Amino acid sequence: MKNTFSIAIHGGAGTLLKGQMTQEKELAYKNALQSALTEGYDVLKNGGSSIDAVEKAVIILENCPLFNAGKGSVFTAEGTHEMDAAIMEGNKLQAGAVSLITGIANPISLARNIMDKSEHVFLAGDGALEFAKINGFSLEPASYFYDELRYNQWQDLKGSDNFQLDHSVKKDSKFGTVGAVACDKYGNIAAATSTGGMTNKKWGRVGDSPMIGAGNYANNKTCAVSCTGSGEFFIRGVVAYDVSCLMEYKGMSLEAACNEVINKRILSIGGDGGLIAVDAKGNISMPFNTEGMYRACKSSIGIEEVLIYEN
Ligand code: ASP
Repeated sequence: MKNTFSIAIHGGAGTLLKGQMTQEKELAYKNALQSALTEGYDVLKNGGSSIDAVEKAVIILENCPLFNAGKGSVFTAEGTHEMDAAIMEGNKLQAGAVSLITGIANPISLARNIMDKSEHVFLAGDGALEFAKINGFSLEPASYFYDELRYNQWQDLKGSDNFQLDHSVKKDSKFGTVGAVACDKYGNIAAATSTGGMTNKKWGRVGDSPMIGAGNYANNKTCAVSCTGSGEFFIRGVVAYDVSCLMEYKGMSLEAACNEVINKRILSIGGDGGLIAVDAKGNISMPFNTEGMYRACKSSIGIEEVLIYEN
């Protein structure tokens, strides 16, 4: 019998207050989520793999300037864009990750290439760009990544020592690390995460998103997870792997393990954010401890949701 197949995506969690967003904006976010969801789901429906589905969904979100990944990434203290991404598949535990890269339109595809074509898991900075060039990636000019709202967010912080998570309480703040998790017809699961990180970040700051086990993880025995939130806390909490461990060693269900980590463990060290997760039976969980999380999911048993706030 064929497995239930499913996909979940996110576009970041944070202080998303109803009423702070115009109906028009809300619709734009929901449409963007819907198209990434549909494209990813179609890969699964047509018999494709979970790894292809999550890469596809994340590429669509990276190409949309509404989200803090690829086009529309936040500005660093130097006025550049430094992007991070990771991808992992749960059958053989293969993974690829990239950090501190500039000029690559789709960092998630570079992470995928690192997984498929190199002997390594994690490449960063100039070396990662060298690998990208050898593997046929072209470099986009800075103007490709420019987004006016992100630029204004940076102007507020420029020259100061402050950096800002996309999850700040600031009015009009945009959230937007993106991610996808999927379970295919064959019971294989995968996770992908991509981000521009934090506005005004410096010193080569890297968050949880490209770190296997922190912001991204997949293992057929347990779950596939993509996180969004205050990266420093998600690194310290080894969040994605923690969910997997609770399932593997404590026998918890996907839902129980996700809730334990997001609503208890990460909160207890001061971390805010959320995650999306699937298991190899196609179950989905999308908990968050912030006011909202851009999220959507669809499964072959008829579930389909596109949500922003707590319901
Ligand atoms: N977790 C990301 C980071 O710390 C930010 C986010 O989720 O928006 O880089």
